[in-house]
Amino acid sequence: MGEQRDDRTETADTGYEDAACGYCPPTIRACRQGQDEERGPAWCPTHVDPEGLAEARPLYDAPDTLRVAQESARVESEGYCRWTRVEEICAFAKRMGYRRIGIASCISFVDHARTLMDILESHGLEAVSTACKTGGVAKESIGLRDDEKIRPGGHESMCNPISQAEVLNRAGCEFNVVMGLCVGHDSLFYRHSKALVTTLVTKDRVLAHNPVGALALADSYYSRVYGPDRPAKPPKRPRRHRAAAPAAAVEVEAPTTR
Ligand code: SF4
Ligand code: SF4
Repeated sequence: MGEQRDDRTETADTGYEDAACGYCPPTIRACRQGQDEERGPAWCPTHVDPEGLAEARPLYDAPDTLRVAQESARVESEGYCRWTRVEEICAFAKRMGYRRIGIASCISFVDHARTLMDILESHGLEAVSTACKTGGVAKESIGLRDDEKIRPGGHESMCNPISQAEVLNRAGCEFNVVMGLCVGHDSLFYRHSKALVTTLVTKDRVLAHNPVGALALADSYYSRVYGPDRPAKPPKRPRRHRAAAPAAAVEVEAPTTR
């Protein structure tokens, strides 16, 4: 415990400027108990950006935001470790009083999108879905060369997430579900969707759409995910200012379930 306190008191001395919760040891993670101000490490957001936290808090007071925060927390606890994400989506949509649900899927997820449409409709919801190749627009129209296509030499439709968002916006969808859009394509969809968005499937062609596998096995089968600057020994402190920080040992214990 003494060493954890040392982490906290480094703030002023070492000048950590960026939040780095990823480096918070399992023995601390004090925000769970509402004790991050007292026990959080020097790189805890509570210490490096208290103004940011203070500015964020009142945003929950907007009635529509408050409702989302409340209902998502209720879904979390009601179905905790029992409901699949599909069931959570249905429960959240019903609790929010949504009627029309949009699905933005990869073209290779159209069959799964159909299953989700059936499930949503079985709960009394209306489902609208668009696939990513909607519009059939050639990749050349956004400046790609033929040799930058997956299979050069023929027509290849661009992924069209802005059109997907527009179609779902115009259909009056109140909540949208992403299924398997690629990195960056999903980002454009999130940016252009007028409705709130959740992700049901995260595209990872190598890991059966379970991208966390690359992190779980980053020290073994998937060590190739690291770049050339991987340190020989895993650091215990965030990269920035690490050299200036006193080398306090950090205990590692098994994390709790939440
Ligand atoms: S205690 Fe602070 S640094 Fe640790 S996980 Fe919580 S917010 Fe992040
Ligand atoms: S670009 Fe991505 S989302 Fe679109 S078809 Fe290809 S894999 Fe699917």
